[in-house]
Amino acid sequence: MSTFNKEEVTSKVKSMLSNFRIVGVGSRERFADDEKVEGLIDRGPEKYVPNYQSVIAFGDGNHKKDKDSNETFGWDYFFSELISPLEVVEYLDFLGYKSHIVHKNDIEVSLVNIGVKAGIGELTPVNSLVVRGYGLSPVLQAIITEAPLLADELPKAKAHCIQCNLCLKACPIRDEAYAPGDMSICACNKCAEACPV
Ligand code: SF4
Ligand code: SF4
Repeated sequence: MSTFNKEEVTSKVKSMLSNFRIVGVGSRERFADDEKVEGLIDRGPEKYVPNYQSVIAFGDGNHKKDKDSNETFGWDYFFSELISPLEVVEYLDFLGYKSHIVHKNDIEVSLVNIGVKAGIGELTPVNSLVVRGYGLSPVLQAIITEAPLLADELPKAKAHCIQCNLCLKACPIRDEAYAPGDMSICACNKCAEACPV
């Protein structure tokens, strides 16, 4: 394996994903406390890549909050949404690091937690992710990789979620912030519609 330049490889990976508006990188040590959170321990990145060192979260805002969504979600976007993550995996594989793509509908691994650990947003009171300017519940994918990439800084508290609790008030399955709720009936999108950020 040739010398690994962390900054250079991370920068190249991000440029390969530049068609996504939201991109962030998190390091493995940020997942160390996951066993303390109910429901996370079995949904960690090691499920797909046991020796992972980094996660890359990428995506776009939910269509309602993404003001330019008409431009973004055309055929070209759909095509590049599929192709560019595959190119990243090939590139990292060429460097000697195994990787795995977590697609947006995959519930085996928590994409919300990966997004939080990659620094792209904050956990909401209804246990989803909010990204300032892109709303609550962005459409996310991730790449879990053995490559030791340069992690992005975590945001300061309230950088994304202003803690207004409007999402919680709108949510029919929770009375308390961060309560698990009955996820079998979670699909109304009221939280995303209520979120002002
Ligand atoms: S989609 Fe509906 S049920 Fe699910 S968290 Fe949002 S408001 Fe609650
Ligand atoms: S509605 Fe308020 S509390 Fe909920 S995610 Fe948005 S900013 Fe945070």
